[in-house]
Amino acid sequence: MAAISEMSSDTESIPFWLEIAECSVAPVAMEDSDHEAHSSSDEQDCCPATPDHNRDHAGEQDQDKEYVGFATLPNQVHRKSVKKGFDFTLMVAGESGLGKSTLVNSLFLTDLYKDRKLLNAEERITQTVEITKHTVDIEEKGVKLKLTIVDTPGFGDAVNNTECWKSVADYIDQQFEQYFRDESGLNRKNIQDNRVHCCLYFISPFGHGLRPLDVEFMKALHEKVNIVPVLAKADTLTPNEVKKKKIKIREEIEQYGIKIYQFPDCDSDEDEEFKQQDLELKESIPFAVIGSNTVVEAKGKRVRGRLYPWGIVEVENSAHCDFVKLRNMLVRSHMQDLKDVTRETHYENYRAQCIQSMTRMVVKERNRNKLTRESGTDFPLPAVTGGTDSETEKLIREKDDEVRPADHELESHQHQHGHSDQCDHSTEHHKLSHSQPEAETQPRVIKDEAL
Ligand code: GDP
Repeated sequence: MAAISEMSSDTESIPFWLEIAECSVAPVAMEDSDHEAHSSSDEQDCCPATPDHNRDHAGEQDQDKEYVGFATLPNQVHRKSVKKGFDFTLMVAGESGLGKSTLVNSLFLTDLYKDRKLLNAEERITQTVEITKHTVDIEEKGVKLKLTIVDTPGFGDAVNNTECWKSVADYIDQQFEQYFRDESGLNRKNIQDNRVHCCLYFISPFGHGLRPLDVEFMKALHEKVNIVPVLAKADTLTPNEVKKKKIKIREEIEQYGIKIYQFPDCDSDEDEEFKQQDLELKESIPFAVIGSNTVVEAKGKRVRGRLYPWGIVEVENSAHCDFVKLRNMLVRSHMQDLKDVTRETHYENYRAQCIQSMTRMVVKERNRNKLTRESGTDFPLPAVTGGTDSETEKLIREKDDEVRPADHELESHQHQHGHSDQCDHSTEHHKLSHSQPEAETQPRVIKDEAL
Protein backbone atom coordinates (compact mmCIF):
# COMPACT_ATOMS: atom_id res chain seq x y z
CA MET A 1 0.00 0.00 0.00
CA ALA A 2 2.71 2.41 0.94
CA ALA A 3 4.57 3.82 -2.01
CA ILE A 4 8.06 3.98 -0.64
CA SER A 5 10.60 6.08 -2.41
CA GLU A 6 14.07 6.28 -1.03
CA MET A 7 16.68 8.95 -1.57
CA SER A 8 20.18 8.81 -0.35
CA SER A 9 22.80 11.47 -0.58
CA ASP A 10 25.86 12.35 1.44
CA THR A 11 27.66 15.57 0.85
CA GLU A 12 25.08 17.32 -1.31
CA SER A 13 22.49 17.19 1.34
CA ILE A 14 24.53 18.52 4.22
CA PRO A 15 22.44 21.42 5.37
CA PHE A 16 24.42 24.60 5.06
CA TRP A 17 22.78 26.01 8.15
CA LEU A 18 24.26 23.20 10.12
CA GLU A 19 27.68 24.25 8.89
CA ILE A 20 27.28 27.98 9.26
CA ALA A 21 25.56 27.92 12.56
CA GLU A 22 28.31 25.70 13.96
CA CYS A 23 25.65 23.81 15.74
CA SER A 24 26.49 20.58 17.37
CA VAL A 25 24.23 17.60 17.08
CA ALA A 26 26.79 15.77 19.18
CA PRO A 27 25.48 15.89 22.70
CA VAL A 28 28.74 16.22 24.57
CA ALA A 29 31.55 18.59 23.71
CA MET A 30 34.10 16.12 24.94
CA GLU A 31 37.83 16.26 24.55
CA ASP A 32 37.22 13.61 21.99
CA SER A 33 40.18 14.13 19.75
CA ASP A 34 42.41 13.52 22.73
CA HIS A 35 40.51 10.44 23.60
CA GLU A 36 40.38 9.04 20.10
CA ALA A 37 44.11 9.56 19.72
CA HIS A 38 45.09 8.08 23.01
CA SER A 39 42.64 5.40 23.82
CA SER A 40 42.25 2.51 21.51
CA SER A 41 40.82 0.48 24.34
CA ASP A 42 38.48 1.25 27.14
CA GLU A 43 41.14 0.58 29.77
CA GLN A 44 43.02 3.63 28.57
CA ASP A 45 39.95 5.73 29.26
CA CYS A 46 40.63 5.29 32.92
CA CYS A 47 43.89 7.22 32.66
CA PRO A 48 43.32 9.83 29.98
CA ALA A 49 46.75 11.50 30.24
CA THR A 50 47.86 13.56 27.22
CA PRO A 51 51.31 14.96 26.31
CA ASP A 52 50.09 18.41 27.37
CA HIS A 53 49.68 17.16 30.83
CA ASN A 54 53.14 15.67 31.22
CA ARG A 55 54.10 18.29 33.78
CA ASP A 56 51.40 17.25 36.08
CA HIS A 57 51.87 13.62 35.27
CA ALA A 58 53.14 12.55 38.67
CA GLY A 59 50.40 14.52 40.42
CA GLU A 60 47.78 13.03 38.15
CA GLN A 61 49.03 9.54 38.79
CA ASP A 62 48.59 10.16 42.50
CA GLN A 63 45.14 11.45 41.83
CA ASP A 64 44.30 8.49 39.56
CA LYS A 65 44.94 6.17 42.43
CA GLU A 66 41.96 7.72 44.12
CA TYR A 67 39.68 7.37 41.08
CA VAL A 68 38.08 4.19 39.90
CA GLY A 69 37.61 5.80 36.50
CA PHE A 70 33.89 5.53 35.84
CA ALA A 71 33.76 9.27 35.29
CA THR A 72 34.80 8.45 31.73
CA LEU A 73 31.65 6.41 31.11
CA PRO A 74 29.84 9.27 29.32
CA ASN A 75 32.80 9.52 26.95
CA GLN A 76 32.68 5.82 26.23
CA VAL A 77 28.95 6.01 25.52
CA HIS A 78 29.44 9.08 23.37
CA ARG A 79 32.17 7.47 21.27
CA LYS A 80 30.17 4.31 20.79
CA SER A 81 27.04 6.10 19.65
CA VAL A 82 28.97 8.38 17.30
CA LYS A 83 30.47 5.29 15.72
CA LYS A 84 27.07 3.69 15.34
CA GLY A 85 25.41 6.81 13.92
CA PHE A 86 21.99 8.21 14.66
CA ASP A 87 18.63 7.93 12.99
CA PHE A 88 15.48 9.95 13.17
CA THR A 89 12.11 9.54 11.48
CA LEU A 90 9.89 12.55 11.02
CA MET A 91 6.36 12.38 9.67
CA VAL A 92 4.58 15.35 8.12
CA ALA A 93 0.80 15.33 7.97
CA GLY A 94 -1.97 17.75 7.17
CA GLU A 95 -4.06 18.80 4.21
CA SER A 96 -2.22 19.14 0.94
CA GLY A 97 -1.16 22.63 -0.07
CA LEU A 98 -0.34 23.72 3.48
CA GLY A 99 3.38 23.88 2.71
CA LYS A 100 4.58 20.55 4.15
CA SER A 101 7.06 19.76 1.38
CA THR A 102 8.36 23.31 1.30
CA LEU A 103 8.91 23.29 5.05
CA VAL A 104 10.74 19.96 5.02
CA ASN A 105 13.00 21.21 2.24
CA SER A 106 13.61 24.41 4.20
CA LEU A 107 14.35 22.49 7.39
CA PHE A 108 16.88 20.13 5.89
CA LEU A 109 17.91 22.11 2.82
CA THR A 110 17.44 19.27 0.43
CA ASP A 111 15.04 18.77 -2.41
CA LEU A 112 13.22 15.73 -1.19
CA TYR A 113 10.27 16.15 -3.47
CA LYS A 114 11.89 16.31 -6.92
CA ASP A 115 9.80 13.48 -8.29
CA ARG A 116 6.51 14.48 -6.75
CA LYS A 117 3.53 14.24 -9.08
CA LEU A 118 0.70 16.60 -8.18
CA LEU A 119 -2.78 15.27 -8.91
CA ASN A 120 -5.56 17.32 -10.45
CA ALA A 121 -8.91 17.90 -8.72
CA GLU A 122 -10.62 15.00 -10.50
CA GLU A 123 -7.91 12.54 -9.55
CA ARG A 124 -7.99 13.74 -5.97
CA ILE A 125 -11.71 13.00 -5.53
CA THR A 126 -11.07 9.29 -5.18
CA GLN A 127 -7.47 9.49 -4.02
CA THR A 128 -6.55 7.48 -0.98
CA VAL A 129 -3.90 8.53 1.48
CA GLU A 130 -0.51 7.33 0.36
CA ILE A 131 2.55 7.05 2.53
CA THR A 132 5.88 8.01 1.01
CA LYS A 133 9.26 7.73 2.60
CA HIS A 134 12.46 9.61 1.80
CA THR A 135 15.81 8.99 3.42
CA VAL A 136 18.85 11.23 3.49
CA ASP A 137 22.20 10.68 5.15
CA ILE A 138 23.54 13.80 6.76
CA GLU A 139 26.99 14.09 8.26
CA GLU A 140 28.19 16.91 10.43
CA LYS A 141 31.50 17.02 12.30
CA GLY A 142 31.83 13.26 11.98
CA VAL A 143 28.36 12.63 13.37
CA LYS A 144 26.14 10.70 10.97
CA LEU A 145 22.39 11.07 10.94
CA LYS A 146 20.05 8.98 8.85
CA LEU A 147 17.00 11.14 8.46
CA THR A 148 13.76 9.65 7.19
CA ILE A 149 10.84 11.82 6.19
CA VAL A 150 7.46 10.14 5.97
CA ASP A 151 4.88 12.11 4.01
CA THR A 152 1.14 11.52 3.72
CA PRO A 153 0.07 12.87 0.32
CA GLY A 154 -3.65 12.76 -0.25
CA PHE A 155 -4.54 13.31 3.38
CA GLY A 156 -7.75 15.36 3.61
CA ASP A 157 -8.03 15.62 -0.19
CA ALA A 158 -11.00 13.38 -0.90
CA VAL A 159 -14.63 14.50 -0.85
CA ASN A 160 -15.27 12.16 2.04
CA ASN A 161 -12.43 12.26 4.51
CA THR A 162 -13.97 9.95 7.10
CA GLU A 163 -11.24 7.90 8.68
CA CYS A 164 -8.62 9.19 6.28
CA TRP A 165 -6.21 9.13 9.21
CA LYS A 166 -6.52 5.35 9.26
CA SER A 167 -3.75 4.57 6.79
CA VAL A 168 -1.42 6.88 8.71
CA ALA A 169 -2.26 5.08 11.97
CA ASP A 170 -1.80 1.72 10.22
CA TYR A 171 1.60 2.80 8.92
CA ILE A 172 2.75 3.73 12.42
CA ASP A 173 1.45 0.43 13.80
CA GLN A 174 3.17 -1.51 11.02
CA GLN A 175 6.50 0.02 12.00
CA PHE A 176 5.90 -0.92 15.63
CA GLU A 177 4.89 -4.40 14.57
CA GLN A 178 7.99 -4.83 12.46
CA TYR A 179 10.16 -3.68 15.34
CA PHE A 180 8.33 -6.01 17.72
CA ARG A 181 8.90 -8.96 15.40
CA ASP A 182 12.56 -8.10 14.88
CA GLU A 183 13.07 -7.65 18.58
CA SER A 184 11.43 -10.99 19.25
CA GLY A 185 13.43 -12.76 16.57
CA LEU A 186 16.72 -14.57 16.82
CA ASN A 187 18.93 -11.93 15.32
CA ARG A 188 18.46 -8.77 17.31
CA LYS A 189 21.80 -7.26 16.43
CA ASN A 190 21.06 -5.09 13.45
CA ILE A 191 17.45 -4.19 13.85
CA GLN A 192 16.42 -1.36 11.60
CA ASP A 193 14.33 1.07 13.56
CA ASN A 194 11.64 2.62 11.34
CA ARG A 195 9.40 3.75 14.17
CA VAL A 196 8.07 7.28 13.65
CA HIS A 197 9.58 9.56 16.26
CA CYS A 198 7.66 12.75 15.58
CA CYS A 199 4.70 13.91 13.52
CA LEU A 200 4.52 17.54 12.47
CA TYR A 201 0.81 18.17 12.08
CA PHE A 202 0.01 21.16 9.84
CA ILE A 203 -2.95 23.32 10.83
CA SER A 204 -4.46 25.64 8.25
CA PRO A 205 -4.02 29.37 8.94
CA PHE A 206 -7.33 30.07 7.19
CA GLY A 207 -9.75 28.36 9.57
CA HIS A 208 -10.97 29.47 12.97
CA GLY A 209 -8.84 27.20 15.04
CA LEU A 210 -8.92 23.43 14.62
CA ARG A 211 -11.05 21.75 11.97
CA PRO A 212 -12.95 18.53 12.70
CA LEU A 213 -10.42 16.63 10.59
CA ASP A 214 -7.55 18.03 12.69
CA VAL A 215 -9.25 16.93 15.89
CA GLU A 216 -9.99 13.47 14.50
CA PHE A 217 -6.47 12.97 13.23
CA MET A 218 -4.74 14.07 16.38
CA LYS A 219 -7.07 12.10 18.63
CA ALA A 220 -6.57 8.98 16.55
CA LEU A 221 -2.81 9.25 16.64
CA HIS A 222 -1.85 10.93 19.89
CA GLU A 223 -1.20 7.65 21.61
CA LYS A 224 0.93 6.30 18.81
CA VAL A 225 3.25 9.17 17.97
CA ASN A 226 4.63 12.45 19.31
CA ILE A 227 2.44 15.08 17.67
CA VAL A 228 3.91 18.56 17.27
CA PRO A 229 1.28 20.93 15.85
CA VAL A 230 2.38 23.70 13.51
CA LEU A 231 0.44 26.67 12.22
CA ALA A 232 1.16 26.63 8.49
CA LYS A 233 1.89 29.60 6.21
CA ALA A 234 2.16 32.04 9.11
CA ASP A 235 3.06 34.84 6.70
CA THR A 236 -0.60 34.99 5.69
CA LEU A 237 -1.50 36.21 9.20
CA THR A 238 -0.63 39.40 11.10
CA PRO A 239 1.36 38.95 14.36
CA ASN A 240 -1.80 39.64 16.31
CA GLU A 241 -3.75 37.02 14.39
CA VAL A 242 -0.97 34.51 14.94
CA LYS A 243 -1.09 35.19 18.68
CA LYS A 244 -4.88 34.79 18.86
CA LYS A 245 -4.87 31.64 16.71
CA LYS A 246 -2.21 30.03 18.85
CA ILE A 247 -4.23 30.67 22.01
CA LYS A 248 -7.39 29.32 20.39
CA ILE A 249 -5.65 26.19 19.10
CA ARG A 250 -4.02 25.52 22.48
CA GLU A 251 -7.42 25.87 24.17
CA GLU A 252 -9.02 23.48 21.70
CA ILE A 253 -6.24 20.94 22.11
CA GLU A 254 -6.95 21.01 25.83
CA GLN A 255 -10.72 20.97 25.37
CA TYR A 256 -10.70 17.91 23.08
CA GLY A 257 -8.29 16.03 25.30
CA ILE A 258 -5.61 15.82 22.62
CA LYS A 259 -2.27 14.73 24.02
CA ILE A 260 0.38 16.43 21.95
CA TYR A 261 4.11 16.00 22.61
CA GLN A 262 4.98 17.46 26.00
CA PHE A 263 8.34 19.10 26.35
CA PRO A 264 10.04 17.68 29.42
CA ASP A 265 10.11 20.02 32.41
CA CYS A 266 13.48 21.58 32.94
CA ASP A 267 15.32 20.88 36.19
CA SER A 268 15.02 23.39 38.98
CA ASP A 269 18.80 23.86 39.07
CA GLU A 270 18.96 25.00 35.42
CA ASP A 271 20.04 28.60 34.88
CA GLU A 272 17.46 31.34 34.36
CA GLU A 273 18.26 31.80 30.67
CA PHE A 274 17.63 28.14 29.97
CA LYS A 275 14.36 28.23 31.92
CA GLN A 276 13.25 31.27 29.93
CA GLN A 277 14.03 29.51 26.63
CA ASP A 278 12.12 26.48 27.79
CA LEU A 279 9.10 28.59 28.69
CA GLU A 280 9.20 30.38 25.32
CA LEU A 281 9.34 27.03 23.55
CA LYS A 282 6.28 25.78 25.41
CA GLU A 283 4.40 28.99 24.64
CA SER A 284 5.24 28.75 20.94
CA ILE A 285 2.90 25.79 20.43
CA PRO A 286 1.65 25.53 17.71
CA PHE A 287 4.83 26.70 15.99
CA ALA A 288 3.94 29.36 13.43
CA VAL A 289 6.03 28.40 10.42
CA ILE A 290 6.92 29.75 7.01
CA GLY A 291 8.63 27.74 4.31
CA SER A 292 10.45 28.76 1.17
CA ASN A 293 12.57 27.07 -1.45
CA THR A 294 14.11 30.29 -2.67
CA VAL A 295 16.94 32.50 -1.51
CA VAL A 296 16.27 36.24 -1.68
CA GLU A 297 18.31 39.30 -0.86
CA ALA A 298 17.28 41.18 2.26
CA LYS A 299 19.29 44.09 3.68
CA GLY A 300 22.31 43.03 1.64
CA LYS A 301 22.18 39.47 2.90
CA ARG A 302 21.07 36.40 1.00
CA VAL A 303 18.41 34.66 3.03
CA ARG A 304 15.81 31.96 2.57
CA GLY A 305 12.55 33.84 2.28
CA ARG A 306 9.46 34.85 0.37
CA LEU A 307 9.43 37.97 -1.70
CA TYR A 308 6.20 39.99 -1.82
CA PRO A 309 5.49 43.35 -3.45
CA TRP A 310 5.32 44.84 0.04
CA GLY A 311 8.44 43.22 1.43
CA ILE A 312 10.35 40.09 2.26
CA VAL A 313 9.45 37.52 4.84
CA GLU A 314 12.48 35.70 6.16
CA VAL A 315 12.13 32.06 7.12
CA GLU A 316 14.94 32.15 9.68
CA ASN A 317 14.03 35.47 11.26
CA SER A 318 12.49 34.84 14.70
CA ALA A 319 10.61 38.12 14.45
CA HIS A 320 8.79 36.73 11.41
CA CYS A 321 8.03 33.15 12.52
CA ASP A 322 8.96 30.21 14.75
CA PHE A 323 10.89 28.30 12.09
CA VAL A 324 14.22 28.50 13.95
CA LYS A 325 12.59 27.50 17.24
CA LEU A 326 11.02 24.47 15.58
CA ARG A 327 14.27 23.48 13.90
CA ASN A 328 16.27 23.87 17.10
CA MET A 329 13.72 21.88 19.01
CA LEU A 330 13.69 19.07 16.45
CA VAL A 331 17.40 18.86 15.84
CA ARG A 332 19.35 20.43 18.66
CA SER A 333 17.40 20.11 21.86
CA HIS A 334 14.67 17.47 21.75
CA MET A 335 15.56 14.88 19.11
CA GLN A 336 16.72 12.39 21.72
CA ASP A 337 13.71 13.02 23.94
CA LEU A 338 11.35 12.47 21.00
CA LYS A 339 13.04 9.13 20.42
CA ASP A 340 12.91 8.23 24.11
CA VAL A 341 9.20 9.01 24.37
CA THR A 342 8.56 6.96 21.23
CA ARG A 343 10.40 4.01 22.70
CA GLU A 344 9.30 4.27 26.31
CA THR A 345 5.69 5.35 25.88
CA HIS A 346 4.24 4.81 22.40
CA TYR A 347 6.06 1.60 21.53
CA GLU A 348 5.55 0.23 25.04
CA ASN A 349 1.80 0.87 24.71
CA TYR A 350 1.75 -0.97 21.41
CA ARG A 351 3.79 -3.83 22.82
CA ALA A 352 1.57 -4.18 25.87
CA GLN A 353 -1.59 -4.23 23.73
CA CYS A 354 -0.02 -6.74 21.41
CA ILE A 355 0.99 -9.07 24.20
CA GLN A 356 -2.45 -8.76 25.76
CA SER A 357 -4.25 -9.70 22.57
CA MET A 358 -1.78 -12.51 21.88
CA THR A 359 -2.42 -13.89 25.35
CA ARG A 360 -6.18 -13.72 24.87
CA MET A 361 -5.90 -15.51 21.57
CA VAL A 362 -3.75 -18.25 22.97
CA VAL A 363 -6.12 -18.78 25.91
CA LYS A 364 -9.06 -19.01 23.54
CA GLU A 365 -7.33 -21.42 21.23
CA ARG A 366 -5.98 -23.61 24.04
CA ASN A 367 -9.43 -23.88 25.57
CA ARG A 368 -10.93 -24.74 22.23
CA ASN A 369 -8.26 -27.39 21.64
CA LYS A 370 -8.81 -28.93 25.06
CA LEU A 371 -12.54 -29.10 24.46
CA THR A 372 -12.10 -30.74 21.08
CA ARG A 373 -9.69 -33.27 22.53
CA GLU A 374 -12.19 -34.08 25.25
CA SER A 375 -14.92 -34.73 22.72
CA GLY A 376 -12.67 -37.27 21.06
CA THR A 377 -12.34 -35.71 17.61
CA ASP A 378 -9.08 -35.35 15.70
CA PHE A 379 -6.56 -32.81 16.83
CA PRO A 380 -7.73 -29.54 15.24
CA LEU A 381 -5.77 -27.32 12.93
CA PRO A 382 -4.97 -23.88 14.31
CA ALA A 383 -8.15 -21.86 14.23
CA VAL A 384 -8.06 -18.63 12.26
CA THR A 385 -9.96 -16.21 14.44
CA GLY A 386 -12.23 -13.56 13.02
CA GLY A 387 -10.59 -13.69 9.60
CA THR A 388 -7.81 -11.32 10.80
CA ASP A 389 -4.47 -11.82 9.19
CA SER A 390 -2.14 -9.65 11.17
CA GLU A 391 1.47 -10.64 11.39
CA THR A 392 1.34 -10.96 15.17
CA GLU A 393 -1.49 -13.45 15.03
CA LYS A 394 0.40 -15.41 12.41
CA LEU A 395 3.40 -15.45 14.71
CA ILE A 396 1.28 -16.85 17.50
CA ARG A 397 -0.21 -19.54 15.27
CA GLU A 398 3.26 -20.55 14.09
CA LYS A 399 4.42 -20.80 17.68
CA ASP A 400 1.36 -22.76 18.64
CA ASP A 401 2.06 -25.20 15.80
CA GLU A 402 5.51 -25.73 17.24
CA VAL A 403 4.15 -26.39 20.70
CA ARG A 404 1.37 -28.72 19.58
CA PRO A 405 3.41 -31.87 18.70
CA ALA A 406 5.01 -31.72 22.15
CA ASP A 407 1.55 -31.53 23.67
CA HIS A 408 0.44 -34.47 21.60
CA GLU A 409 3.45 -36.50 22.70
CA LEU A 410 2.73 -35.68 26.31
CA GLU A 411 -0.86 -36.77 25.88
CA SER A 412 0.05 -40.16 24.41
CA HIS A 413 2.67 -40.60 27.13
CA GLN A 414 -0.04 -40.05 29.69
CA HIS A 415 -2.28 -42.64 28.00
CA GLN A 416 0.53 -45.18 28.13
CA HIS A 417 1.27 -44.55 31.83
CA GLY A 418 -1.95 -45.65 33.37
CA HIS A 419 -4.79 -44.30 35.35
CA SER A 420 -3.14 -42.04 37.91
CA ASP A 421 -1.77 -39.84 35.16
CA GLN A 422 -5.16 -39.90 33.50
CA CYS A 423 -6.70 -38.59 36.68
CA ASP A 424 -4.24 -35.77 36.93
CA HIS A 425 -4.92 -34.91 33.35
CA SER A 426 -8.65 -34.70 33.80
CA THR A 427 -8.21 -32.66 36.97
CA GLU A 428 -6.20 -30.23 34.93
CA HIS A 429 -8.97 -30.20 32.36
CA HIS A 430 -11.47 -29.46 35.02
CA LYS A 431 -9.39 -26.63 36.33
CA LEU A 432 -8.86 -25.20 32.91
CA SER A 433 -12.46 -25.29 31.89
CA HIS A 434 -13.89 -24.04 35.16
CA SER A 435 -11.34 -21.79 36.70
CA GLN A 436 -10.66 -18.83 34.44
CA PRO A 437 -7.83 -17.17 36.42
CA GLU A 438 -5.94 -20.43 36.48
CA ALA A 439 -6.40 -20.82 32.73
CA GLU A 440 -5.14 -17.34 32.13
CA THR A 441 -1.89 -17.96 33.90
CA GLN A 442 -1.14 -21.03 31.75
CA PRO A 443 -0.61 -19.43 28.37
CA ARG A 444 1.49 -16.63 29.72
CA VAL A 445 4.42 -19.01 29.70
CA ILE A 446 3.67 -19.85 26.11
CA LYS A 447 3.44 -16.18 25.30
CA ASP A 448 6.91 -15.62 26.75
CA GLU A 449 8.22 -18.50 24.67
CA ALA A 450 6.62 -17.02 21.60
CA LEU A 451 8.38 -13.76 22.23
P1 GDP B 1 2.11 20.47 0.50
O1 GDP B 1 1.12 19.98 -0.46
O2 GDP B 1 1.54 20.56 1.87
O3 GDP B 1 3.39 19.73 0.46
O4 GDP B 1 2.42 22.00 0.11
P2 GDP B 1 3.62 22.58 -0.75
O5 GDP B 1 4.88 22.63 0.02
O6 GDP B 1 3.67 21.92 -2.06
O7 GDP B 1 3.14 24.10 -0.93
C1 GDP B 1 1.96 24.45 -1.60
C2 GDP B 1 2.04 25.91 -2.04
O8 GDP B 1 2.16 26.76 -0.92
C3 GDP B 1 3.26 26.22 -2.90
O9 GDP B 1 2.87 27.13 -3.90
C4 GDP B 1 4.23 26.87 -1.96
O10 GDP B 1 5.09 27.77 -2.60
C5 GDP B 1 3.30 27.59 -1.02
N1 GDP B 1 3.87 27.72 0.31
C6 GDP B 1 4.63 26.82 0.97
N2 GDP B 1 4.97 27.29 2.17
C7 GDP B 1 4.41 28.51 2.29
C8 GDP B 1 4.41 29.50 3.31
O11 GDP B 1 4.99 29.35 4.38
N3 GDP B 1 3.70 30.64 3.07
C9 GDP B 1 3.03 30.85 1.92
N4 GDP B 1 2.40 31.99 1.78
N5 GDP B 1 3.01 29.95 0.93
C10 GDP B 1 3.70 28.78 1.11
